[in-house]
This record gives sequence, C-alpha cells and structure tokens, in this order.
Amino acid sequence: MIKKKFIFIISSLFILSGCLDSENKNNKEITFVASTAIVADIISVITGKKINSIIPNGFDSHTYMPSAKELAIIDDADYIIVPDENLNSSLTGLLKLSKNKNQIIDLNKLALSTDDIIINNKNANPHTWTSLSNMRKWSNFLLNFIIKKNNKDEKIYKENYNIFIAELDKLEESISKSSLVGKKIVVYHDAWDYFGKEYNINIIGAIQARNFVEPTAKEISLIIKQIKDENVKSFFGSEVYPSDILDIIERDSGAKYISELSDDILPKNSNFKSKSLYLEMMQMNINNLKKGL
Ligand SMILES: [Zn+2]
Repeated sequence: MIKKKFIFIISSLFILSGCLDSENKNNKEITFVASTAIVADIISVITGKKINSIIPNGFDSHTYMPSAKELAIIDDADYIIVPDENLNSSLTGLLKLSKNKNQIIDLNKLALSTDDIIINNKNANPHTWTSLSNMRKWSNFLLNFIIKKNNKDEKIYKENYNIFIAELDKLEESISKSSLVGKKIVVYHDAWDYFGKEYNINIIGAIQARNFVEPTAKEISLIIKQIKDENVKSFFGSEVYPSDILDIIERDSGAKYISELSDDILPKNSNFKSKSLYLEMMQMNINNLKKGL
C-alpha cells in the first residue's frame, strides 16, 4: 500500500514537472495581435477574446501601411501572427524592425506544406486562406500554438475550435455539392486560385499584377478576349480595387462585373449564424459567385 502511494506521488510529481516544463512557466497570459482582419478573426474565435488587427478591416492588406498609432498595438503583444510575410512585405519589414523576428509567426510557412502553396510566375501566391482546407490547417496550427503559450484555458480553446471546424466542414460540404463545381470563373485578382483548385473551379484571368499597378492596354484586351472566348456571363472583383478599367472590360466584353467578391474584407454586419466573420465572408462569396454564373 505504502509502495503504491509512493509510486502515485512520484508519478504525480512527474506529471506536474511536465506541466511546468511547458513554455509558459510563469503563467503570465501571452498576448497576440494579427496583421490582417481574417487572422484576427480566427484567433478571436479560438480564444473567445477580441484580437486586434494591425491592418484595419476594409483596407488592402497588400499595400496598407499602418500609422505610428496603429502600429503601437504591437508593443504589448508577445506574438504577431501574419498570413504570409510576403503578403505585405513593407509591413513585414517594419514589424521586423520593431520586434524580434521570432515573435512574427508566418502561418503559410508554419502551418502549410509546400504542396499546399500555388506558384504563380515563380512567386508563391500568398492567398492560401481562400481554400477552406488550408484554413483548417491554419486554425489547427493556431489552436496548438495558443495552447502551448496559454495552457490554462486549453479546454475553452478546444471547444471554440471544434465549433469553428464543424461550421467550416458544413460550409465546405455545401460548396462541394454546389453548382460552382467544375465551372469557369473570371476574376480580377489572383486570390481565388486556391479556392478554384480545391473545388475544381477553373479560375481564369486574375489580370492584376502582384505589385498592384494598373494593367497595360495589352493585358486589358487579353482579358476582354478571354471573357469573350470563355463565354462567361460575369466576371468578379472586389471593391478594394475601384478601377475605371473594370468598366471598360464590362463594356467591351459584354459580361457583367460583380464587385462583391471579398478575399480579405470581413462583413461588418452579421447575416449568418456563424461566430466567425471569415466563414461568413466565404458564405457571402459563394452566394455572389452563384448569382453570377
Ligand atoms: Zn490579395
């Protein structure tokens, strides 16, 4: 009996020291900020606490540069979570100057494998989150990362994560059974390549260059030709890119321009039951894509 008790005490001590051995030894709450609204949304959903985004929702995440006041939110954060260091390399440069680079967590690099990444013109396309299965990998990585840093709320984080994943699964299933599968879609921005690959949707166009210069006259006539050749009824873009060029393309191609597609702006008003604004954004995109086909 005494021997049993002794073994119990020893093993309890062992378990306890195992706990203490985790990274967060002094139990101080580790804090996070995100560079984009989508990443902030996912961390907020998992932790159940509002996480700030350096780039305010509604601004172009490729080019936005925060003011000194906006950047000040990183001062109190232990980690800055970014979708991809190359999404906005000027901002990444600024963050590296302000923080230790180990405190910048690049989700594409750490949560995805090279097979998950699409290469366009020798450059890795950073918009991996338009694929729901990539988002599942991101959020799984985030769950484990957050638990490793703040293990006392592990149970809550896992519960929140499971609800999020169940909703994501449901949305994924509805897309895979929808009329979008196997269709052709003409888009103005290369963010949708991941979405297209996942659901066997042929993504055509993406005329806007990665450095966001306006397309040349030659590129415009190419996209007009593509729209005519593909015989599509509509082409899609986002209001982040207001451009007279889209009007020209609409006029000369005869296809209707649908501007409500969003790859990085979260809806302001909640129209769905989901807690995650990212999932709502994707649901709205699905609805808009269906309207245009
Ligand atoms: Zn983009």
